[in-house]
Amino acid sequence: MSHELDLSPKVADETKFTTCYMCACRCGIKVHIRNGEIRYIEGNKAHPINKGVLCGKGSSGIMQHYSPARLRKPLKRVGERGKGEFVEIEWEEALQTATKWLGDIRRTDPKKLAFFTGRDQSQSLTGWWASQFGTPNFAAHGGFCSVNMASAGLYTIGGSFWEFGEPDWERAKYFVLFGVAEDHDSNPIKAGLGKLKARGAKIVSVNPIRTGYSAIADEWVGIRPGTDGLFVLALVHELLHADKVDLDYLIRFANAHWLVVDAPGTEAHGLFARDEAGDPLCFDRVAKKLVKATYPDISPTVVGEVRLPDGRKAVPVFQRIAERYMDERYSPDAVAERCGVKADDIRRIAAEIADVAFNQTIEVEADWTDWSGRPHRKFIGRPVAMHAMRGVSAHSNGFHTCRAIHLLQALIGAIDCPGGFRFKAPFPKPIPPAQKPAGKTYAPMTPLAGAPLGFTMGPEDLLLEPDGTPIRIDKAYSWEAPIASHGLMHMVIANAWKGDPYRIDTLFLYMANMSWNSSMNTKRVMEMLTDKDEATGEYKIPHIIYSDAYASETVAYADLILPDTTYLERWDCISLLDRPIGDADGPADAIRQPVVEPDRDVRGFQSVLLDLGARLGLPGMVKEDGSPQYPGGYADYIINHLRGPGLGPLAGFRGAHGESLGRGAVNPHQLEAYIKNGAFWRHELADHEKFYKFANLDYLQFAQRMGFVPNVKQIVMQLYSEPLQKFRLAADGYGAIQPPEDMRARLQQAFDPLPIWYPPHEEAMVDTQRYPLHALTQRPMIMYHSWGSQNAWLRQILGRNKLYIHVDTARELGLVDDDWVKVASHNGEIKVQIHTMEGVNKDTVWTWNAIGKRSGSWTLAPDAPESRKGFLLNHLISERLPNGSTLSNSDPVTGQAAWFDLRVSVTKCEPGEEIAEPQFDELKAPPGLHIGANLNRFGAQTGARR
Ligand code: SF4
Repeated sequence: MSHELDLSPKVADETKFTTCYMCACRCGIKVHIRNGEIRYIEGNKAHPINKGVLCGKGSSGIMQHYSPARLRKPLKRVGERGKGEFVEIEWEEALQTATKWLGDIRRTDPKKLAFFTGRDQSQSLTGWWASQFGTPNFAAHGGFCSVNMASAGLYTIGGSFWEFGEPDWERAKYFVLFGVAEDHDSNPIKAGLGKLKARGAKIVSVNPIRTGYSAIADEWVGIRPGTDGLFVLALVHELLHADKVDLDYLIRFANAHWLVVDAPGTEAHGLFARDEAGDPLCFDRVAKKLVKATYPDISPTVVGEVRLPDGRKAVPVFQRIAERYMDERYSPDAVAERCGVKADDIRRIAAEIADVAFNQTIEVEADWTDWSGRPHRKFIGRPVAMHAMRGVSAHSNGFHTCRAIHLLQALIGAIDCPGGFRFKAPFPKPIPPAQKPAGKTYAPMTPLAGAPLGFTMGPEDLLLEPDGTPIRIDKAYSWEAPIASHGLMHMVIANAWKGDPYRIDTLFLYMANMSWNSSMNTKRVMEMLTDKDEATGEYKIPHIIYSDAYASETVAYADLILPDTTYLERWDCISLLDRPIGDADGPADAIRQPVVEPDRDVRGFQSVLLDLGARLGLPGMVKEDGSPQYPGGYADYIINHLRGPGLGPLAGFRGAHGESLGRGAVNPHQLEAYIKNGAFWRHELADHEKFYKFANLDYLQFAQRMGFVPNVKQIVMQLYSEPLQKFRLAADGYGAIQPPEDMRARLQQAFDPLPIWYPPHEEAMVDTQRYPLHALTQRPMIMYHSWGSQNAWLRQILGRNKLYIHVDTARELGLVDDDWVKVASHNGEIKVQIHTMEGVNKDTVWTWNAIGKRSGSWTLAPDAPESRKGFLLNHLISERLPNGSTLSNSDPVTGQAAWFDLRVSVTKCEPGEEIAEPQFDELKAPPGLHIGANLNRFGAQTGARR
């Protein structure tokens, strides 16, 4: 009997290009479909992000699409909130209900709507919708993710890491990676590290945990959490003492020579000396006089005191830098113990950076013109690149740490040069971008004057009522978080529950698992969501609308569920107005298209939002006759919406026939053009536009044409930040807008115009003898938050988490592998199982984030390992500072959630039941879904043949 093997089975009837959404990287994918079913996903070889590479998460997208936890139809709560008792309703009823609630708010007090989205990739739409609605209470998840990184970059160099810029993977010879786990910018970093390895570049990973990228680094610096800033400033100390700084670069591209007024006790102290036109001044050592600091062809001094015409003293920024960081308190010997890094290692790393930057310089020949019209023949490269992410960002000192990293890069001339950190279009932007947060004035039936999120330049831009009360529910842009460029999503529920600064009517959430892994103090948040007003018997947060594709833990806490599609059933745009996918050599954007139609009664959230906008009559969402402006939903919006003259959500294939780039008339066939092009668009910059983008005339002219920047003025890097000093002056008592007395000291410390380091707040406030260990979470390479950890294939790789602890620390505590321990913080206690390892800082314990699930959620079996043995550290983290403080557990500059400030103790449990604690009541499955659909094989849920 012969057996014939089909070595080339027919995989698909058709293939379609779209964009992955299994993490935030937005790789291009090619989806194979057979008989209307998704059979296989592969990487799009032509796509600029991944060039065909597909990670395990991306491949598992097929099981995300066929997840048994997918919601099926709109739901209305019928039981008590939190019990998960729902009935299915029609879309019309759902939309009418939402329109009624939202319409009532809009007619009376629009800020009683708090609209917050999680990891959605349509923030230019959602932010615009909030603005047209008229509520200042909008933000996405940036405030609890990495806003410190983004803001510090935007206030210092005009861009930052990840979507704002990237290492020059092709040319860097020395690469320093700070606090990066495996899920952010996942495929590009992996591919980039491969290139560095192939070329023999040195990779240094500064991270308390040696997993993922750190595990393949040439050198692992197992730093103590929250001390990265001190480590970086010690490197700066060494470079300054060794005279290894690129002064020519600093004068040409940064504000090193700008004069700072030195007049303590006056309202101008610490501000830049300016001429009558308001331009900053420097002292020209050849002309021997004050000149505009922004003139070309000047010879400014960078040290030495200068007398201003009015008799005041002033000193250049660089002198301030040298005075501060050459001080002994930033020496390697002074910081070594605190950082947990040997002083000799700090000295060696600084010397290695200096050697590569100044002895291994590279040149890229190109005829380019600088902002003032001067021609140049080449770009000079200092081939030291850096990348940083959540690990440094999620501390209460993270803003300054991120600024310190940018200062370090700038001092060696390694920003936007060959081999260094390079901006991705549309960055760099003016520092900071001109957009101020709107919401100072809000009124019924009136759109905001601009976008809810923006960049404050001083106290005058804060969102405060005349009596100083924060305007926003999360207190963003108040004295508690003056530069809260992404809002404080982690404070919305707590503040709304408390009625501080006021009560809201409706909490509208999208893709944010706020009753579980996306909140601090999870147990308490669940109580807040179900807590009722004693006087009225109503919930303290009266209405909760939630849109999600899956039966996440938060579904049970909503009153109205608007079921979203999976990412393979939807239109999306990955827009240059939002979080684009460009690279250092050119801008790019992309789309998602529905590769299959939903088999459930679900709708893409963005289309639903536009529908709601039309029903509410929001300006821009209805035509003059009152009919919807975008009857075709999100796809219609993507094609036809204009944000400025000729500027729409997609930059490619604009113009009536797709002939325009960036700006152009609406192209009715734009989406078809994208699909034909593999679901993305990219423009390659000319060689002479690729570096020094902040001062490169040809690039700046291109950027202006594209709408990235308002003009072709040079973008001068702000090593010394005047906006920060303005807030500090207010704290000192100057200016009309004054902080409360009890905030002055905190503001004076945090708003230093040069990078500083201070101990993380929790560490400074708790008894560190009682809570001797730092506790961190990080994302595994194979999962993307709770969304990925319910995926039938991925959960077979990691179905529960343990607490990882250094072998020596475990031994001191009398612990061995698999012991159950109690982990306590000032906020609570959990019970978990441990695993020992060598590759972790000895003062640190850590675990994978968002693996633990509530029993019954995501339709997992009640005894799923994720529920019985998996756990969240979130229970231990308070949303407020310890000791009864009313202040949020955040960075005092940006409001970034300080997840990683957590301090804990670990003690061995008595023998007993081996189950993680706390446990909560088992959630019921929404109608039509079945708990315990324990699928692990493709096709099992659909009946498809394998
Ligand atoms: S890195 Fe992220 S976006 Fe890219 S394939 Fe993997 S999961 Fe998808």
